[in-house]
Amino acid sequence: MTSQQLEALLLVQEHDTARDRLRHRRLTLPERAELESHTAKLRELEAQIREVGGRRDAVLADEKRLDDEARSIGAKADEADKQLYSGGTNSPRELQAMQADVDMLRRQRSDLEDQELEVMEAREALDKEMAALDADAATLRAEIDRLLGLIAVAEGEIDAELAEEDAAWTAQAELIPESLLADYQRRRAQNKGAGAARLVGTSCTACHLSIPSNEAEQIRKSTGDAPSYCDNCGAILVP
Ligand SMILES: [Zn+2]
Repeated sequence: MTSQQLEALLLVQEHDTARDRLRHRRLTLPERAELESHTAKLRELEAQIREVGGRRDAVLADEKRLDDEARSIGAKADEADKQLYSGGTNSPRELQAMQADVDMLRRQRSDLEDQELEVMEAREALDKEMAALDADAATLRAEIDRLLGLIAVAEGEIDAELAEEDAAWTAQAELIPESLLADYQRRRAQNKGAGAARLVGTSCTACHLSIPSNEAEQIRKSTGDAPSYCDNCGAILVP
């Protein structure tokens, strides 16, 4: 293996490091954390909207039922009233009984209307609560859309950089013998990052630890033989 191939290997390592950094940046975009917290908030809000909406619908049904009852009793009162003045009877006792009927029906209707008013007020309060929750949800949805847009833009930029790094990686990798590249990749995977490093003096630039000076000397003399490795991190050392 030539020193040119080893230099190419160091460049491959540089491009791998750059790609790792870009992938990490892509995964940890700050907007992603914000998006997650906003999405969680929206889910909570939607549950609240369902709950308040359920209560509102129940109260609205109550309101409608009271309104129907008041109308039907009102119609009965009007009917009884009409009978009273229809001249169907002249008996004071009967007329008195009929008047009492009309009065009772009107009282019932008035009671129902009072209840309906109370229920309507409760329903209006729930409507207001719903409107406020809906507005909050709309704000959150807009914010989520904005974050998704920012994330898409950032991802696009990172992907373009990654494509450049991929191309540069391939160009260098083509200069390296297959077995050396495979050795590098195995070591890089074990090391979670560094598969090859420059030897500067007696120190490995991957782990920043030193190897014995006679070993460093030997590595500097031995270009062309089998690759040398860092005793500490196992990276391929390039003199
Ligand atoms: Zn090392």
